[in-house]
Amino acid sequence: MNPVAPLLASLQTELGADAVLSAEADLDGFTEDWRGRFKAPALCVALPSTAAQVSAVVRLCAAHGVPVLPQGGNTSLCGGAVPASEGVRPVIVNLSRMRRIRSIDAANGSMEVEAGCVLKTVQDAAAAEQRLFPVSLGAEGSCQIGGNLSTNAGGTGVLRYGNARDNVLGLEVVLADGTIWNGLRALRKDNTGLDLKHLFIGTEGTLGIITAATLKLHPLPTHHALAWFAPVDPAAALRILGMFQAACGSRLNAFEMINRRQLELVIEHVPERRNPLGELHDWHVLVELADTRGGEEMAELLQHTLEQAADAGLIVDAVFASNDTQRAALWEIRHSVSEANKKAGVGLTTDCAVPVSAVPAFIEQSTRAVHAIIPGLDILIVAHLGDGNAHFIPFFTFDAWREFADPVAMATAMRHCVNEVAHELHGTFSAEHGVGQTGLSEMAHYKSAIELTLMRAVKQALDPHQLFNPGRLLP
Ligand SMILES: Cc1cc2nc3c(=O)[nH]c(=O)nc-3n(C[C@H](O)[C@H](O)[C@H](O)COP(=O)(O)OP(=O)(O)OC[C@H]3O[C@@H](n4cnc5c(N)ncnc54)[C@H](O)[C@@H]3O)c2cc1C
Repeated sequence: MNPVAPLLASLQTELGADAVLSAEADLDGFTEDWRGRFKAPALCVALPSTAAQVSAVVRLCAAHGVPVLPQGGNTSLCGGAVPASEGVRPVIVNLSRMRRIRSIDAANGSMEVEAGCVLKTVQDAAAAEQRLFPVSLGAEGSCQIGGNLSTNAGGTGVLRYGNARDNVLGLEVVLADGTIWNGLRALRKDNTGLDLKHLFIGTEGTLGIITAATLKLHPLPTHHALAWFAPVDPAAALRILGMFQAACGSRLNAFEMINRRQLELVIEHVPERRNPLGELHDWHVLVELADTRGGEEMAELLQHTLEQAADAGLIVDAVFASNDTQRAALWEIRHSVSEANKKAGVGLTTDCAVPVSAVPAFIEQSTRAVHAIIPGLDILIVAHLGDGNAHFIPFFTFDAWREFADPVAMATAMRHCVNEVAHELHGTFSAEHGVGQTGLSEMAHYKSAIELTLMRAVKQALDPHQLFNPGRLLP
């Protein structure tokens, strides 16, 4: 008898036959990552609708000794949400049927949502109550809150509101023995010992399955002022960032930088994207101010600060969004980079963060390091400059990439030389995407022995039988 048949039968009894997919053809969208770089088989996909069903799946998998891989929108850029090619085939627990917004408390500035809620749905539901959920990223139309929290997602709102971790008040989690921990508190202050929710945020599904979250909401900014400008270089962009921080304080909403080659790829590969400036410049920055009032004042502040930057010789060109349509179009350019790169070729995305002041040095030194391996190779830069997080992307055409006898070795070498530069500048190789499969060997290399020992102790305490995402996060 097929040894997995009893597990499949029990899962179908608990969830219903339509919530357990095991036919090869049904699994493709769950076993391959968004960019099509990782694909490995799973035992089946379970689609629970409630926390109780998630708990039942976990208990059954534990009883059969089969690992569990939690999955949200499967938009991970580091192979985090699909099975590895080695090891026991996992049961993928995909949370997309758990997509209820349970409640919104506008006066408390909080909302309780199930883990499978798509990020955009959460943002829209908050906005309908004149509140803002500030986590925002290019995949927001398909990534899910559970995935955002498990990866401690960053994105374009970190400069002002922090990352996903900073915007959550409580969690509901299914633990390795199937217990449902209800930590759905909506408190801004609670000093009663360890803040346990943080164990599950940013740990990529290795300690439990998040089934719901209480999110922190903010006043909804209704007035915006946005400009797209070309700084002379990254050092000039950094100085301009400082000018905006001094002039605008917490109204500075975003400060995103891309380089010339990255903008070219967006224009070439994504329909309806155009260069906002008269010509292509080496560097481009989107800067946005936002508040609940004072639109005209902000527009003047934006213009005045950029004029000062121009007087100081830091800017080559600039354009201002004069209405919401123009503002949306400029944001679309920024949010289209991953789509463009996926269509255009093979970008070896790195995800380093360094101290903000070290970003220009990081870009310069990483360029030198990559060009020492392949002189003149195209490099794409997508930087959340205000967070010190620069995606430095060595880029190949599909044809050039096919020439490599060992593309995995080339990708590893390229990423490692960039990560080395970040390390030398006291940075990290994993700022916001997570460790996933691409960063696993770097964990062993860069994390200190004491940090790895402490993390293993936590894993052992919460998941002693290595049920959740075995082999992930901890090499
Ligand atoms: C176009 C594009 C743009 C992007 N831009 C950004 C960006 O600016 N900033 C950024 O940070 N990321 C970005 N990403 C990466 C990705 O969208 C984020 O990592 C996102 O947070 C992942 O959410 P997800 O629901 O797709 O999770 P998945 O990819 O499904 O899973 C990610 C990890 O979380 C675990 N997991 C998922 N759900 C749960 C759960 N409920 N409980 C426990 N563990 C779980 C998985 O096991 C996996 O380890 C981008 C991706 C794309 C495709």
